[in-house]
Amino acid sequence: MGAKYVVRGNVAVVTLDNPPVNGLGYDTRREFSAGIERAEADPAIAAIVVTGAGKAFSGGADIKEFGSPKAIAEPNLLTLIRQLENCNKPVVAAVHSVCMGGGLELALGAHYRVAAPGANVALPEVKIGLIPGAGGTQRLPRALGVEPALNMIVSGEPVKSELLATLPGQRLFDQVITGDLLDGACTFAAAKATEHDGGAKPLPPGEGGNAKPLPRVRDLKATHPNADAYFQFARNMVKGMSKNFPAPAKCVDAVQASLTRPFDEGMLYEREVFMALMLTPECKALRHAFFAERAASKIPDVPEDTPQRKVEKLAVIGAGTMGGGITMNFLNAGIPVTMLETKAEALERGVATIRKNYEAQVKKGKLKQDKYEQRMSLLKTTLSYDDIKDADMVIEAVFEEMGVKEGVFKKLDEVMKPGAILASNTSTLDVDKIASFTKRPQDVIGTHFFSPANVMKLLEVVRGKATAKDVLATVMALGKKIRKTAVVSGVCDGFIGNRMIEQYSRQAGFLLEEGCTPQQVDRAIEKWGMAMGPFRMGDLAGNDIGWAIRKRRYQEKPNMRYSKTADLLCELGRYGQKTGAGWYDYQPGKRDAIASPLVVEMIEKYRAELGIRPRKISDDEIVHRLVYALVNEGAKIVEEGIASKASDIDMVYLTGYGFPLHRGGPMCYADTVGLFNVVQAMKKFAANPHDDASFWQPAPLLARLAAEGKAFS
Ligand code: NAD
Repeated sequence: MGAKYVVRGNVAVVTLDNPPVNGLGYDTRREFSAGIERAEADPAIAAIVVTGAGKAFSGGADIKEFGSPKAIAEPNLLTLIRQLENCNKPVVAAVHSVCMGGGLELALGAHYRVAAPGANVALPEVKIGLIPGAGGTQRLPRALGVEPALNMIVSGEPVKSELLATLPGQRLFDQVITGDLLDGACTFAAAKATEHDGGAKPLPPGEGGNAKPLPRVRDLKATHPNADAYFQFARNMVKGMSKNFPAPAKCVDAVQASLTRPFDEGMLYEREVFMALMLTPECKALRHAFFAERAASKIPDVPEDTPQRKVEKLAVIGAGTMGGGITMNFLNAGIPVTMLETKAEALERGVATIRKNYEAQVKKGKLKQDKYEQRMSLLKTTLSYDDIKDADMVIEAVFEEMGVKEGVFKKLDEVMKPGAILASNTSTLDVDKIASFTKRPQDVIGTHFFSPANVMKLLEVVRGKATAKDVLATVMALGKKIRKTAVVSGVCDGFIGNRMIEQYSRQAGFLLEEGCTPQQVDRAIEKWGMAMGPFRMGDLAGNDIGWAIRKRRYQEKPNMRYSKTADLLCELGRYGQKTGAGWYDYQPGKRDAIASPLVVEMIEKYRAELGIRPRKISDDEIVHRLVYALVNEGAKIVEEGIASKASDIDMVYLTGYGFPLHRGGPMCYADTVGLFNVVQAMKKFAANPHDDASFWQPAPLLARLAAEGKAFS
């Protein structure tokens, strides 16, 4: 796979052919370049059309090659672009479907560009912490105009070709072709061949030639009537919006260089910035997250061509907080849902909440009225299992009690058609046990949504020991369909995310005992980048939930030490925002966390009972104790095979727990710090008499990797 070469009359068509999106990997570049050379050498060819096969013009550089010698092996992308630009026959890029990153930079090297309407055109490098690196920052402002180009470069968002073609003064697209793109492009190219003197090497008129020189984007001038003020404004905007990421501000600098520097100097500047960004931890984190997301859908023993079951009709049992949110995901994706409850009032409440959520979206202009009605028309409710027995899949979201789940799954086993997928949204119960209530454990799986289920990206897909591979493959694909990041977890207490958060919460408790206040802990970790510190999070989720879990869990593990401060808080009835008081005080109707003297007093009293003299704990220590608690448990989870790879854990934390994207997830962060350094820090924490030495026993995988100088990734 690389590139194809065909001749149509006097036009050569060189087509990138590297499915799925014609990534510009080494082999593709080599064959493409050979195609251009061949066309240029053939006297029967007067013009060249370059395009992409299948579903894209080109999705851009092959980022799997980043950092490898292949990425720069000749012909590299810059060479290819120069080859088009310097070609002595008119080159027309025929853009369609997807034209992104290096794909767009390549098209900008052509003398002309024609586009099919509806093509997504973008320079998305900023999303992986970079700026475009093959002339995008220098050519796009020249071709499109400074402001629209900067908007595209700094946001990375795609813009439709037909929209770009209407921008005043733009030179990006010479024509939008509504009929057959290739026919149109070849006709256009043949006409240009005539215009440029039949393809002969054009000598400028002053040098005795009569050919019109071939236009090159690099020869255009990027201008702005108010450049200084505009770039100052852009810089301020970007600073406010992307505080943890260096790339967006660099996009502004590079685009400004397209105005202030000659083309070749601008190109050098772009390269310099690109290379410097490539080495930043933020860029590494973003690239890690990009790959981790793709890797999450790959399950080692479930091949990608595993057949899937059809899921066209869904049932949800329980119309409470989670049942309603889960239902919305499927309605949004156009899949009909029947919600089942034990009482009509519960159904009415559930439907009313769904309506309220949609209406809020309509009010904000995020959802059109007709779409809202269309979604609601897909929703049915019932009190009878008879009405759901034909569903292809059912998701249970009833109370978190094994007895209640048992009743539901026995009933489902009795009524559901053979082959229906039976899923549970349990957050703490044993999915294998739930499966054992049926005679078809192979059809049972966990689908652990996060609250609010219609908003949160994460879906932990819990694979039971009997779960069939086709069930797993189907649910993973369904996850994608409802726009979730689906990550597979094995069965264990808390699955991936909550099992790790337990250790994080235990550390947070120890920090209080040793001298911190809740706000000091929250402030330190939020400053580091977590969306919410452990105590604000507890107040939001409800401290009583953790209390109930601890009562069960620590009865089973009486030797597990944890701080009783959270229990004492619950004994005061301070469950969090819902009771107006938790670790913090709350004013009615408001969510601002106000420091509570009563809680500080409660902690101090307990500390005194333990005989601990408080000490000043640095923000660094707070952050490292909390994050390494996650890392150590994460290592155990990988070693036990609960997660099939460390990057799955990062996805769980980035999409479900507000872990800062610029840190790449807990495991990626540990790799950045160096596992040896992580283990050294853990040894220091273990020597603290008030911490729990066994807590800081490095997981065997972590200890081994650290000793070998290796990383999780
Ligand atoms: P909820 O109390 O809001 O809703 C449960 C609903 O189930 C109620 O409407 C109840 O009437 C209904 N119900 C109870 N028994 C039933 C039965 N036998 N048949 C049909 N309906 C029945 O609870 P929730 O917060 O939506 O939690 C539901 C499940 O989701 C639990 O397993 C919970 O652990 C899990 N979960 C909750 C969250 C969360 O943040 N709330 C997050 C992830 C997972």
